[in-house]
Amino acid sequence: MASVNTQKNIKFLTALFFISINSLIILMDQQISFDEKMMNRALFLADKAEALGEIPVGAVLVDERGNIIGEGWNLSIVNSDPTAHAEIIALRNAAQKIQNYRLLNTTLYVTLEPCTMCAGAILHSRIKRLVFGASDYKTGAVGSRFHFFEDYKMNHGVEITSGVLQDQCSQKLSRFFQKRREQKKQQKATALLQHPRLNSPEK
Ligand SMILES: [Zn+2]
Repeated sequence: MASVNTQKNIKFLTALFFISINSLIILMDQQISFDEKMMNRALFLADKAEALGEIPVGAVLVDERGNIIGEGWNLSIVNSDPTAHAEIIALRNAAQKIQNYRLLNTTLYVTLEPCTMCAGAILHSRIKRLVFGASDYKTGAVGSRFHFFEDYKMNHGVEITSGVLQDQCSQKLSRFFQKRREQKKQQKATALLQHPRLNSPEK
């Protein structure tokens, strides 16, 4: 009798285990597809920056219910403002919208790994989760160049997910820099054609 009960218990626990695993997988799939959806929105915003001649980076801030409460794209050149990175613009928009300088229980999506300034702003605004696409080996503060969140002694931990739509995010940036290099080369060639003496040695 006892062994029949034990077998039943094992069957029940096994079924429960597989149901839990399946539910977890479904939840993870939903999270991944939501992350990709938001990163796609950030990529769309990055195009707005590029159209203005800015480095194409976009950012989206989402509340705990999954609503977008802030959006931003690079505007440093246009606004003559060194702090106008996509993340800062998105945080400012969101804080204005909810009339609170703390952005608790929010997730920030950004196409490029944040710099130290933006990592500082993420920390100060108490953002719960950071999701980024491409890594930035020159100035990235979330593991590529600096380890801001690990080095900084803080009570507030930020959950980090990297590499979401990484290829799309990286390709957008490399295409932009490639295009910019070609434009500069062309400008130089045009200047030489118009002023050939620029290239001739001094007499
Ligand atoms: Zn930044």
